Amino acid sequence: MNSYIEKVLNEIETKNCYEKEYIQAVEEVLSTIEPVIDQHKEFENIALLERMTEPERLISFRVPYVNDEGKTIVHRGYRVQFSSLIGPYKGGLRFHPSVNQSIMKFLGFEQIFKNALTGLPIGGGKGGADFDPKGKSDNEIMRFCQSFMTELQRHIGQDVDVPAGDIGVGAREIGYLFGQYKRIRNAYEGGVLTGKGLSYGGSLARTEATGYGLIYFMREMLSANSQNLQGKTVTISGSGNVAIYACEKAQSYGAFVVAMSDSKGCIYDKNGIDLNIVKQIKEVERGRISEYVKYRPEAEYIERTSDDSPIWNIKTDIALPCATQNELTLNSAKKLVENGVLAIGEGANMPCTKDATEYFLAHNVLVAPAKAANAGGVATSAIEMSQNSMRYYMTFEEVDAKLDTIMVNIFKSCKEAAEKYDLGNNYVAGANIAAFTKLAQAMVAQGIV
Ligand code: NDP
Repeated sequence: MNSYIEKVLNEIETKNCYEKEYIQAVEEVLSTIEPVIDQHKEFENIALLERMTEPERLISFRVPYVNDEGKTIVHRGYRVQFSSLIGPYKGGLRFHPSVNQSIMKFLGFEQIFKNALTGLPIGGGKGGADFDPKGKSDNEIMRFCQSFMTELQRHIGQDVDVPAGDIGVGAREIGYLFGQYKRIRNAYEGGVLTGKGLSYGGSLARTEATGYGLIYFMREMLSANSQNLQGKTVTISGSGNVAIYACEKAQSYGAFVVAMSDSKGCIYDKNGIDLNIVKQIKEVERGRISEYVKYRPEAEYIERTSDDSPIWNIKTDIALPCATQNELTLNSAKKLVENGVLAIGEGANMPCTKDATEYFLAHNVLVAPAKAANAGGVATSAIEMSQNSMRYYMTFEEVDAKLDTIMVNIFKSCKEAAEKYDLGNNYVAGANIAAFTKLAQAMVAQGIV
């Protein structure tokens, strides 16, 4: 390994020894950009990698709220403002009990590269809290969001930092957060949050964007390798925002989706997933995926009993991990390869462990990396910001067409970078190199800051 990269990695491991997800995300990027670093010896003298891997600012704060029983509960909130190199900090908010500093930093770090790939003027950030919205009443969610925003509002703004949704933060939470921001600031700054409802400044197609964008990227990747989606079997982990709209778009291209999941288990429907049922359970009733079999008795529910999700044991041509980080392990990768998988499309952030990704690449499985393949959500958020600034709204078709073009261009950048450095169809390295090159140019141009 290049000695500069090795030195930086060692320092990061020492300084952040308890942050395993963050270390994993940095290792994944730095191990693939070696050919660029080899050509730019000057980067070491200006500590380019050290600066790119250190957040500009990391904010952590107390979030107290009173639950329906009258008891006060305290959570920890975060905002990592990682990089403003190419635009205001931009990235989602995650409400999930697993949220901690390591997860926030890994997501913020990945976000810089993802946002650079979109070609739009957005920097990288991420935030959230170790709060679980599951099982909470609407009033509890509202009180929590108001408390969270009471502190967060000091640090954000439509030209400073623009949060959006992520796991556990959907349209309901964004509405409560926006209402509180507006109340405290006494100003209608529509562009301060994205993923807003359509009645108060949201963009058409934002809800669908990450899932649709994943499939547009997959379509391009398959086409560059003389394949297509028509008639392919697809399994999709998760049954949240990304999974549902990836399923919808895959089905529209004639793919045959047979399985989806949540954190407790997966459903297998050999006749093809009925997405209307999944939407009813997840978007309306906020229930468990296991309830699918009540509507479709011929389908099967397989409970999760170990770290390896049962969904990856199902034979498929295309696997789309769309739930969470490190959900597809080496064991699962081996099973998928044994069953003849052709392509992986990462809808979630860092869903494949590093050894799983390496295993896929070593076995000629096409991998659409998260930073590139799920960038459609943030790209459409940037389109939402533009619409808010222009005080003008585009039609669904206009936004969707822009999203499609952005995903085509992202794939092109990944492919060209991979080809330039003789990496064949390793789009994981291609994505990292394309994004890094752009960020490094901006960093050099802006001096030592
Ligand atoms: P949602 O909250 O809408 O859905 C998350 C889904 O993942 C649920 O089905 C959930 O199941 C499942 N899940 C969560 N944690 C785990 C776990 N530990 N093990 C197994 N399954 C789990 O989130 P999104 O769909 O918005 O996000 C999914 C992924 O996509 C995340 O990695 C997110 O960072 C990424 N992403 C999202 C974007 C967006 O626009 N929404 C943009 C880019 C990336 P359960 O209900 O049981 O918890």
